[in-house]
Amino acid sequence: MAAQIINGVELASAKRAQLAKEVEELKNLGIEPGLTVILVGDDPASHSYVKGKQKACAEVGIRSTLLTFPATITESMLLEQIDQLNRDETVHGILVQLPLPNHIDELKVIEAIAPEKDVDGFHPINVGRMMVGQKAFLPCTPYGILFMVQSLGIDIAGKHVVVVGRSNIVGKPVGQLFLREHATVTYCHSKTKDLAAITHQADILIVAVGKANLIGAEHVKEGAIVIDVGVNRLENGKLCGDVRFDEVKEVASYLTPVPKGVGPMTITMLLHNTVEAARNAHHINKRG
Ligand code: NDP
Repeated sequence: MAAQIINGVELASAKRAQLAKEVEELKNLGIEPGLTVILVGDDPASHSYVKGKQKACAEVGIRSTLLTFPATITESMLLEQIDQLNRDETVHGILVQLPLPNHIDELKVIEAIAPEKDVDGFHPINVGRMMVGQKAFLPCTPYGILFMVQSLGIDIAGKHVVVVGRSNIVGKPVGQLFLREHATVTYCHSKTKDLAAITHQADILIVAVGKANLIGAEHVKEGAIVIDVGVNRLENGKLCGDVRFDEVKEVASYLTPVPKGVGPMTITMLLHNTVEAARNAHHINKRG
């Protein structure tokens, strides 16, 4: 039987409706959640991601401010800018759109963001807190993936989750989040031998590589849940994931499409983290 396609847009829109209510409640208390996005240079993909984030903020009532800088900005000027935002009480979340130009040390920039405003969840303090199970901002893509799988109503405990990819922003943290939910987690990467033999053991297969068509039916166990994180632009201009969609949908029980799968959830969890940051700044506990 063909896989059920997980509709990321629908899931995201339900979650955004709930966030819009939470923003309204905060506004009734005189608090307007605010996100400031820093964009350096003129990479078209980055500009388009930032536009998507701003549109999503507007949708739920979060005030978003965009600060753009030329690619020639110095590292110290950028750090100075972040320092100002850290001290600005009307700014609850700070996001620096990556990648940054080569002359700027990304880790240094991420570490300059106050951990309580790090709504991307990339600051080593948030990463460490996540690892030891403390309250932390969870990185948006991994958090969105967990939210998606949980929305299917399946019990994650004891499931074998295989993650292909081990980047700091997707692969590594998504494995940690599923480990926290008591899954058995295996990581694969570019040095993994016999990838298909390992991915074929997965009850939940998460692919975050960035290589079109890497994963086919031969990699997937009958009935597995397959989450395709990859975003690749084909020569014809179309977007596709890392998974051969038409093949894998005949084997998997659930499958995410690209686009309209993980992407909308990523942005939604950024909104979630920003609302949380605003609540934290005013010592307000979430109701319900
Ligand atoms: P990175 O390039 O940082 O990491 C890619 C990972 O894939 C690395 O760990 C690499 O291994 C591994 N890899 C490369 N080739 C193979 C292979 N042949 N077999 C197995 N593993 C391999 O990418 P990101 O994690 O940043 O992003 C991954 C994809 O997800 C990209 O397409 C990106 O655009 C997309 N993405 C989508 C988001 C969304 O919201 N939808 C958000 C973020 C990313 P090694 O470590 O050994 O080099």
